[in-house]
Amino acid sequence: MVDLKNQYLKIKPVIDAAIQECIDTSSFIKGPQLGRFEKRFANYLNVRHVIACANGTDALQIAMMALDLQPDDEVIVPAFTYVATAEVIALLRLKPVMVDVDPQTFTISPAAIEQAITAKTKLVVPVHLFGQCADMERIETICSAHDLFMVEDAAQAVGASYTFSNGHKYSAGAMGTLGTTSFFPSKNLGCFGDGGAIYTTSDVLAEKVKMIANHGQIRKYEHEIIGVNSRLDSIQAAVLNEKLNYLTEYTQARQQVAAAYDEAFENIEAIEVPYRMPGSDHVFHQYTLKVPAAERDNLQLYLSQKKIPSMVYYPKPLHSQKAYQTIGRVVGDLSVTEALCKRVISLPIHTELSDEQVSYISEAIVDFFS
Ligand SMILES: *Cc1c(COP(=O)(O)O)cnc(C)c1O
Repeated sequence: MVDLKNQYLKIKPVIDAAIQECIDTSSFIKGPQLGRFEKRFANYLNVRHVIACANGTDALQIAMMALDLQPDDEVIVPAFTYVATAEVIALLRLKPVMVDVDPQTFTISPAAIEQAITAKTKLVVPVHLFGQCADMERIETICSAHDLFMVEDAAQAVGASYTFSNGHKYSAGAMGTLGTTSFFPSKNLGCFGDGGAIYTTSDVLAEKVKMIANHGQIRKYEHEIIGVNSRLDSIQAAVLNEKLNYLTEYTQARQQVAAAYDEAFENIEAIEVPYRMPGSDHVFHQYTLKVPAAERDNLQLYLSQKKIPSMVYYPKPLHSQKAYQTIGRVVGDLSVTEALCKRVISLPIHTELSDEQVSYISEAIVDFFS
């Protein structure tokens, strides 16, 4: 699904030098590489503050901790996402309220958010799934009307942007109260291990996030609030500093693969290619097709026989997972999510796919449906 080895080999000298510098200077924690990356990434995103942390799950947790929510406050999340989004809500003793997604965009349905709002609702967590922003214009309107916080999970959408009807354009993660991302190796901007970050435009929240990520410490050995230990180490920051130079190029490579797939599947009635929301710049963390539920597993088997990787993100809705049986949703409640889990299949998409590989994959799929 990804080819991290060849991506590395193309920029090996600069990556190796950056890592070696951390080792030579023994600057493993909070080295100059970290501050440099936070600053450059904030510029790239055009967001005031980027605070790096240990991974994307921590980023969500820290962002939510910064909002002073109370036990049993309700947090609205999509049921069609990676488990991390809901997990941290439950871990913080808040109540995850799982809602359905839009069948075209795969992202949280604004109408479903509105229906789920109660007096206890405090926060909405849109997930920019597969590399495309959720319907931010409507979600932002709902959040302001009901005075709700918004934390954007932009783990899959580094480099994506969204343009509002007034022409204002923002990076994924830069529109909410806080935004979060992950630098897991296979993400669009991946490091060589675990990493994550929190974004905010608020100076006050930025200070609070820094404090929480560093044991709630305001000065050395002065602990204001209960925090966690969540850091991005210097070696990861050094890798990200180099890879940031290629992010625009990497995004374009993914978009080109997506365009080639789109064209190849144009006349196949059984295939629905990923929908592009107007005003939203899709960065294709995944290229996800919808096919008839009856064909999906056969297609996956057929592809594996042809040595073509494919993945189902996500095979099981969050509300039907054993760990989340207590949240008051039963199978049948979220019909769009449930149907998508049976219909979706993601194809290889990354920065190193050759035209030949894309043709081989596309032709195999076209053959399957002919
Ligand atoms: C990857 C991912 C996360 C978690 O990131 P980690 O760095 O693996 O903790 C959270 N949300 C979504 C949507 C993700 O895809």
